[in-house]
Amino acid sequence: MFHVVATLNRDTGNIIVITAYEPDDEHLCFRKNQKAIMKCVMCKRGETKPGVTSVLLTRDDFTLVMRDVPAEICEICSEDYIDGGVAKRLYHLADEIQHQGTLIDVRKYQTTPEVSCPVEG
Ligand SMILES: [Zn+2]
Repeated sequence: MFHVVATLNRDTGNIIVITAYEPDDEHLCFRKNQKAIMKCVMCKRGETKPGVTSVLLTRDDFTLVMRDVPAEICEICSEDYIDGGVAKRLYHLADEIQHQGTLIDVRKYQTTPEVSCPVEG
């Protein structure tokens, strides 16, 4: 599972913590055929619901804030779970923007047709 830790503080609007794992193709479709609702691994009590969140990606001196990123959000602790395909797209966007020499940028996530995944079974 790809886990981009990007907690948006709903009170202040600030993003608190960010780490992200580089997604790879092998695991990109991990959750594709799974039920959308899952148990939160952080608080182990909540279940996730579809929503949007803000993601902060940092690399070297480069910082990218992506708003309105689709995510599964824990109803109890608000931990965000971002789909592997979305995470991968964020990385590609971050790469492009970083290569333009930008140090900090804020973008609104644009929804595109889903990454096609092989259907199991
Ligand atoms: Zn939780």
